[in-house]
Amino acid sequence: MDEVRRDEMAFQPIEGPRVSDEVVDQLSHAVHTGLYEVGARLPRIDELAAAMQVSRPTVSEAVRVLTRAGVLRVKRGAGGGIVVASSVIPLDILKRSRAIARNLREVVEARRPVEVALARLAAVRATERDYEGLREAIRLQEAAGEDLGQWSFGNFKFHYTIGRAAGSRLLFHFQTELTKELAMFLEDWTPRDRENPEMTLAEHKNILAALQSRDVHRVTAAMEDHLLEVEALVPTSSASADAETTTPA
Ligand SMILES: [Zn+2]
Repeated sequence: MDEVRRDEMAFQPIEGPRVSDEVVDQLSHAVHTGLYEVGARLPRIDELAAAMQVSRPTVSEAVRVLTRAGVLRVKRGAGGGIVVASSVIPLDILKRSRAIARNLREVVEARRPVEVALARLAAVRATERDYEGLREAIRLQEAAGEDLGQWSFGNFKFHYTIGRAAGSRLLFHFQTELTKELAMFLEDWTPRDRENPEMTLAEHKNILAALQSRDVHRVTAAMEDHLLEVEALVPTSSASADAETTTPA
């Protein structure tokens, strides 16, 4: 390993120290992964501060940032609170978090083993509630029409539902980090180019059927096939990898 490469792998730029950015990151994650869906109420400022072990003004600042970005809404009065307004996290919010990958290729080649590992665990551990979540995600995509936001939300919901069904906090963390990096390279949560939505839907249905069969080999094959389709669309040269974007399948 040459000197430059070693240095590059050992050290990443530290942007900050902005604790409120970390809070923004955690809140936007909770929304993006569907833990809190549109209309859901988040814990109170003091509860969030206690959970993240930061000061209340720090949480308030993060909430202000996400309110300006249209992700959260603060409702006053009785029955009020911090409510999720949109599941779409704007790119400038996303860019506050740390990115490690240098190009899209690096993201997709790391994503596949993580998603496959999650799917294998989900094959064993998924419950009827998870299957229902996956069916709902597929319904959202089927009904999306020209609404790319809904298509994208259904898409992420599908993959995150498998992630949660796997029951591994650590792998789920890797999945969300990789999805975030993927979105940064795609420069938008919304896929601009979904050339073959029918194929994506058919593959999602195939993955669901495989999960319900609880056949680990079948699940592995279904998820591998699905993600290899995406990888095939990503240019191999790192120089052009961030120019050509494609649907996050
Ligand atoms: Zn997919």
